[in-house]
Parts: sequence; structure tokens; C-alpha cells
Amino acid sequence: MRPTIPQVSWSSALPSGLVAIAAAASVIATAGGGEPGAAAAAAKPPLVVVQAGHVAPREPGYRWQTGSGSGPFGNERAFNIRVSRALAKRLRKHGIRVRVTPGKISPWAVKADVFVAVHHDSPGGVAGVGHAHAGAREFFYHGDGAGEPSPTPYADTVRHRRATSVNTIIERRSRRLATRISVRMATLFTVGNGARSGWGSVLPKRLVRTSNYYGFRRTRAKARVIVEVGAAGADDRYLRKVDLIAAGLSRSIRDYLTAERGR
Ligand SMILES: [Zn+2]
Repeated sequence: MRPTIPQVSWSSALPSGLVAIAAAASVIATAGGGEPGAAAAAAKPPLVVVQAGHVAPREPGYRWQTGSGSGPFGNERAFNIRVSRALAKRLRKHGIRVRVTPGKISPWAVKADVFVAVHHDSPGGVAGVGHAHAGAREFFYHGDGAGEPSPTPYADTVRHRRATSVNTIIERRSRRLATRISVRMATLFTVGNGARSGWGSVLPKRLVRTSNYYGFRRTRAKARVIVEVGAAGADDRYLRKVDLIAAGLSRSIRDYLTAERGR
């Protein structure tokens, strides 16, 4: 589902934005002879962008990266779609606005409170939460996503779309969100639930695939994370538990949004 997004600044979801919006709406209401109380109606719930990793259409420069070809549903895309939809449903039930986007971030550079990319890793890979780092550049591949990542484009690299930036404020918020998600998902990532690979917690900056994730630079979300829910093979029985995973993600994102409002 793609809810219509009106042309307003998403920063209105924060308390400081609320004050500005309320003041503006109050002026308009007064000028029009209306009730200043109408300002309350201008308050918008937060917006969360959920990316189902690798799902077509994919991002230019990364279109050959179709994700892990294994996992409990046959391939990673099938898992990412299931979890993204279940997560969106849960967040909406709590009044949060959600946009689910495929590999190609759409719309480009949308302002949101949270950007979360849903993935699982290949067999032998990591499980954990990566987040945006200030100044981290995206990586380039041969053609549309082949070979080794390079900090500069190759001669044959497909042209990328324009990148947004990540500053230290966004990095700090992203780390707070990643920490909340990691702490909650660690409680679910148990042998009893079918997870056997080990939870990697908040993934370090040196893992460029997650700390320099291209999706972080196609959005203007205030906090940007990528969740590697588990690793195919070892964690297949856990990865099959889509509702449990979606519930954990939804709860930690809501807890984060609540905490940020108090800051
Ligand atoms: Zn992936």
C-alpha cells in the first residue's frame, strides 16, 4: 500500500515543528476568522519508510544485487517483502504513517522520522543492525552492482541517482534507533526461536555494506538503519517467524519515536 503523502514538511512530526505549525495554523485560522483550535488538527503522526531490500524495481547502480538466494522462503526478497508488509501493518495499527519502498527508494529523498531497511544475510553472514554514519560515502560497483565495492566509481559503473547527506545529528539518532532495535531483537534471537548464528548487535562502522548502505543516501529521514534480521541457513527456523520479527521491529521503532518526542 502506498498512502498519499501531502506536500508538507515531515519535520512537523516533532514537538518543535508542532509549535511552528500550530503557530502558523493559528495565524491562518485567526486571519480567516476561524478557531485557533484547528491548529491541533495540523499535527501529523510520524512517518516511517520501510524498505523491502532488493525488491524490484531496484536502485540504479545496485540493480544486479538481488539478495541472498536462500532462506526459509526460497530467497531473501520473499522474506523482506513479508516482514516489511507485516511491519507496516503493525505500525499503521498504532497510527503511524508508513511508506513501503522497494530497492529503488521511492520517493527519492523523502523526509521521514525513520528509515528502516529489512534484509537477511547469506549463509555465514551477520545478524544485527547497521546505521548511518556521518560523512560515510556510498560505494560503487561494476556495471549495475557487480564485483568489489569501491569508494569511487569504476569506468563502467551505471550512473547513480543523487545522494543525500548524513550529518552527526542524523548519525546519533540512527545509533539510538539501531540500539533500541538491537536490544529488543536480541531477546527474540534465541535458540528456542530457531536462531543459531549469534546476534551481532549494533554493527560496527567497518562493515561498509551496512554502515555505508546506499539506502541511507536516498532518503532524508531523521534516523536511518538497516536490519540484517538473521543469516540464511543457520537462522531459517527463526526467519520463518515473520510475525514475531515484525512485532519486535514495530515495538522498538515505536519506543524510539516515543523517546525522541521527549528529547
Ligand atoms: Zn540483503
